[in-house]
Amino acid sequence: MSINQLVYISQAVRKMSAEDLHAILHTAKSNNQHIDVTGSLFYNGGWFMQVLEGPLETLNALYKKIEKDPRHKNSRILYNEPAKFRTFTRWSMNMTNLENRQADKYDQLVEVIDAATTDRKIGAASPAVTLLKMFRE
Ligand code: FAD
Repeated sequence: MSINQLVYISQAVRKMSAEDLHAILHTAKSNNQHIDVTGSLFYNGGWFMQVLEGPLETLNALYKKIEKDPRHKNSRILYNEPAKFRTFTRWSMNMTNLENRQADKYDQLVEVIDAATTDRKIGAASPAVTLLKMFRE
């Protein structure tokens, strides 16, 4: 079955606690596994960036639901394109809290979110494409 990858960015309405993030991840994991969606969610203390992978219609319906969630606002799709294969095959959803990052391990990810929030490219690529490439390689 053909799949799409959808990447969006959104602004958290308040600083998310570990419990807040855990609740989002718990719901995402249990729902996504029933609808054949995989992906990853990143939080940098102010913004979310999420990759969702799955059948196009499923993703569009899921995104419509997620964007209405009152825990975030100003949601904006950065990328929604067909993909030959999934990048995040292991996770119905995974969460990376970049506030807790160790040393410089996640600096590239922080840059991806910074670039997306300021409409900047990274080299010649859009932040979403850079993000997907980082995990593919
Ligand atoms: P219900 O749980 O009945 O929700 C009813 C309404 O209340 C919805 O509008 C819901 O958004 C809102 N709501 C639920 N819990 C809270 C809360 N603790 N505080 C405030 N409002 C709340 N869901 C997925 O299935 N897959 C994902 O990948 C996914 N990613 C997400 C990423 C982010 C950044 C956020 C903020 C949410 C994400 N969610 C995801 C959750 C999604 O937005 C819905 O809350 C969830 O799918 C359940 O919605 P529902 O309408 O089926 O059920």
